[in-house]
Amino acid sequence: MGFIDYDKKYDVIVVGAGHAGCEAALAAARMGCATLLLTINLDAIALMSCNPAIGGLAKGHLVKEIDALGGEMGKNIDATGIQFRILNTRKGPAVRASRAQADKQLYRLRMKHIMEQQERLHLKQAEVTGIVVEEGEVRGVDTKVGVRYRGATVILTTGTFMRGLIHVGLTHYPGGRAGDLPSVGLSDQLRDLGFAVGRLKTGTPARLDGRTIDFSRLEPQYGDDPPVPFSFSTERIDQPQVPCYIAYTNPRSHDIIRSGLDRSPLYAGVIEGIGPRYCPSIEDKVVRFPEKDRHQTFLEPEGRDTVEYYPSGLSTSLPIDVQWAFYRSIEGLENVEIMRPAYAIEYDYVDPIQLHSTLETKLVRNLYHAGQINGTSGYEEAAGQGLMAGINAALRVRGEAPVVLDRSEAYIGVMIDDLVTLGTREPYRMFTSRAEYRLLLREDNADLRLREVGHRVGLVGEGEYRLFLEKRERIGAELSRLKGAKLLPSEADPAFLEEFGMANLQNALTHEQLLRRPDLTYEELCRIDPVAAQVPPAVREQVEIQIKYQGYIERQLDQVERARKVEGTAIPADFDYIAIPGLSAEVREKLVKFRPDTLGQASRIQGVTPAAVGILALALKARG
Ligand code: FAD
Repeated sequence: MGFIDYDKKYDVIVVGAGHAGCEAALAAARMGCATLLLTINLDAIALMSCNPAIGGLAKGHLVKEIDALGGEMGKNIDATGIQFRILNTRKGPAVRASRAQADKQLYRLRMKHIMEQQERLHLKQAEVTGIVVEEGEVRGVDTKVGVRYRGATVILTTGTFMRGLIHVGLTHYPGGRAGDLPSVGLSDQLRDLGFAVGRLKTGTPARLDGRTIDFSRLEPQYGDDPPVPFSFSTERIDQPQVPCYIAYTNPRSHDIIRSGLDRSPLYAGVIEGIGPRYCPSIEDKVVRFPEKDRHQTFLEPEGRDTVEYYPSGLSTSLPIDVQWAFYRSIEGLENVEIMRPAYAIEYDYVDPIQLHSTLETKLVRNLYHAGQINGTSGYEEAAGQGLMAGINAALRVRGEAPVVLDRSEAYIGVMIDDLVTLGTREPYRMFTSRAEYRLLLREDNADLRLREVGHRVGLVGEGEYRLFLEKRERIGAELSRLKGAKLLPSEADPAFLEEFGMANLQNALTHEQLLRRPDLTYEELCRIDPVAAQVPPAVREQVEIQIKYQGYIERQLDQVERARKVEGTAIPADFDYIAIPGLSAEVREKLVKFRPDTLGQASRIQGVTPAAVGILALALKARG
């Protein structure tokens, strides 16, 4: 087919306007690149395919990092959230995480508005059917209506759309997500180019009509008061919050589910894609945990001005008649009407092992992949990758060195390193347990870790950067003030000393020493330290964590320092592993297949032994 060449040439072309595509396109345009975003449906920009929520365990960390780097997700949820909560407040700071319910339609509309206002960013509705590759480099994309757009770099963020196949019971039909067309042709071309294209699966629950739910029989769950924003740039959340409701399945629900398994595409062997182990469907849970007689669900409102509710944890691909009976077996949902049925979707993804740490593909220069196309699952995972792909494509256009976050700097770094080093055979989602330096990678210090990077590439504006510098300075000043401020036994309030087990105190203690005591918080310190009471909450939080966890933090910093030597040693792309004596055939084969960018990555490939890493290190040194 002949294509009509569009008369403009772009620096960056982004394919797809999901959570990865939005961050990628905004980053590239904000960094000065003429950017084109092509997507199948302009009304579905940043649409939440599944749960109407942002954040959660480890995902909240990703959002904070995206925000610190100058991305949009945190600001978007702050403006459109309808319930905000900090999870794990009783646990240590490393695992505390923010989560917010979103008004799904407002979230999408605000993101579309931001993109439309963005200078240098063109939005166009079109399905991309192929990429243009010349001399091993991507040069543009072709669209279904026969237009060829030329671009210096291309970022693919196709989500669940490539050869998407929707299943409800034994009925199935092509779709990128319920109500959206699939993307056809693109993954075949990628396979022809040598990419390893695989098949994954995910699922979503039904959407329920709130007018038919008996909320009086359910337990409400409210947000935090006051709500805490995601973005380091949001001062406060003003909009009122709405509750979610807790409900439970019961033995009858489970019997109904079991009775429908013979018509489940999953159990009848119709679905070939691998599903998310950590986000199983309700039929999976009932089969895998037969001893459990109930499963919890949160009924989450999809927005302020809609009656639709999302029952979290109840995704299914069972036939619609089984869905009717199953949802209605739950207390409070006896008369519930389903507005949109639950379904599963299978889609093509590309093995991320074929990517550099910059998210550029190893096979085609200037082509980047980000989001669910890389085998991940989740809005936040997608947005984090989209942002990094956008930054790196823009840096390529500007002729500057790429940005790669390492595992000690960010969860985004951990995620990308996991993907490009180990690949994935099942939907990958972020967990705090994936990070070896958890205590360094906290939500609260994401700005201290990453604001500089965001400012350096041009995504963090001068005003936001100034506020950050002031905060950092105040933290430093307060830390040194607390080292000098003293509690003198002769002048101290005896009741205070008694309360904290210091009735027999002989020598003066610095306020830093006091804060180190596990039972004494900053708030309590304010009772005897009037200057501390004037310190802003964000500075207080940081100072308190840095003092209380100093020993552990220093230990992790030591480990990072020791690992840095290996991490930082680059391996040239054309490195000849076959010529290195001493490597086993298995190790050689793995290294040739994975082509790690650094010695650190090589050390994480399964089967590459410490001895092999030592041999590699010597060979790299000899090469100079
Ligand atoms: P998407 O949000 O899927 O966006 C892809 C974008 O690319 C769309 O705008 C689409 O129109 C566009 N596009 C695709 N192909 C083309 C093309 N050829 N040309 C032009 N545009 C194109 N995540 C979870 O964390 N937990 C869950 O339980 C969960 N369940 C899910 C259930 C379902 C049914 C679905 C569909 C998704 C689910 N997800 C879940 C995944 C979540 O929606 C994604 O992880 C996230 O949206 C991925 O973001 P993305 O930007 O990579 O892709």
